[in-house]
Amino acid sequence: MSQFFGSKKVLGVLGAGQLGKMMAQAASPWDLTLHMLDPTPGAPAAHLCTHCQTGDFRDEETVMAFGKNCDVLTIEIEQVNVRALERLEAEGKAVYPQPRALKIIQDKGLQKRFFDEHGLPTSPYQLYDGPEALRRDNPAFPKVQKKRTEGYDGRGVQMLRNASDLDRLLPGPCVVEDAVDIGTEISVIAARSPSGEVVTYDPVEMQFHPEANLVEFLAAPARIPPALAEAARKLARDTIEAFDLVGLLAVEMFIDTGGNLLINEVAPRPHNSGHHSIEACVTSQYQQHLRAILNLPLGETALRSPAVMLNLLGEEGHAGPVRYAGVEAVLRAPDAFLHLYGKHETRPFRKMGHLTVLDASLERAIECARALKPQLKAQT
Ligand code: ADP
Repeated sequence: MSQFFGSKKVLGVLGAGQLGKMMAQAASPWDLTLHMLDPTPGAPAAHLCTHCQTGDFRDEETVMAFGKNCDVLTIEIEQVNVRALERLEAEGKAVYPQPRALKIIQDKGLQKRFFDEHGLPTSPYQLYDGPEALRRDNPAFPKVQKKRTEGYDGRGVQMLRNASDLDRLLPGPCVVEDAVDIGTEISVIAARSPSGEVVTYDPVEMQFHPEANLVEFLAAPARIPPALAEAARKLARDTIEAFDLVGLLAVEMFIDTGGNLLINEVAPRPHNSGHHSIEACVTSQYQQHLRAILNLPLGETALRSPAVMLNLLGEEGHAGPVRYAGVEAVLRAPDAFLHLYGKHETRPFRKMGHLTVLDASLERAIECARALKPQLKAQT
């Protein structure tokens, strides 16, 4: 689709949050025409795209009306109206990721079944209509209960350690997985173009915030043996090919204590675990996404430098108009890059920004990020 360059052809994006903002930043050097749809006026990407429409991307007719004016459609969030995307695709629009893949990925139960049916390793699981059915089944512990739909950032996931945890189950249809004895959590981002070209990024290692169940610290490359890193990249490639997906697929994996790779879940869009690629990789995940969905040659994925990424989460106990602390300390650090998403209100654990630190030594980058972390704050 090199006809996008220098033309008024429109790329439509459902969502204008932080991922949309960084996608718009990647689209700017190519001067692409970007239309975005988001329910929040003044959403993070709103002032960076050609046109931002305020509206609900979950509503079928709103998405239909928005999509009519676009030549290619993509997403920066999964919880969008798939029915509308199917209709737009049937009308001849290019829609990436494809709605049939999105439909599976929106439902953690269908995702698990898909992994199983395609021989992609994942932990054993059961599907339940609701808490009653799960209680009746009297499962062996420990298990992890996940809402099938609408969960994100660790919300909608809980560990069930013993029978007493059956008294506080999440409502609605759920997936219940055997709890994995996790050694390390990693993520591999793969990109695929309509011609079937695939590239993968180096695995990154995720460290979770103990309370919020949210990735707060990420190291690239993951500190794992090279053979395991290769196997993880191969698994990400197999997964994007199994979905026949065009665009990006972030494949979150566990390495269990026995050294086995198991897929946790996938996301068909730019991902939190790829933020570092803006400064640390030859081609950022955001530009890679544009290359893939516009059927352009995919870019080199190599890391230029080891990197650490920290999510800047809203301080606990603070909700309201945001004020930032510690920005000067970050700017004094030699190879640290600050991204503030421009959300007007902070809330506990809300993703308000991130920080990427580069260093030829990953250990030094981790030390630098650790020193900056307590200083940088999003508060009221
Ligand atoms: P979300 O989509 O909200 O990010 P995930 O499915 O990724 O939720 O789960 C969040 C976290 O919960 C994972 O990163 C991991 O730490 C833990 N977790 C999820 N599934 C399992 C499992 N089967 N065994 C052990 N821990 C798990």
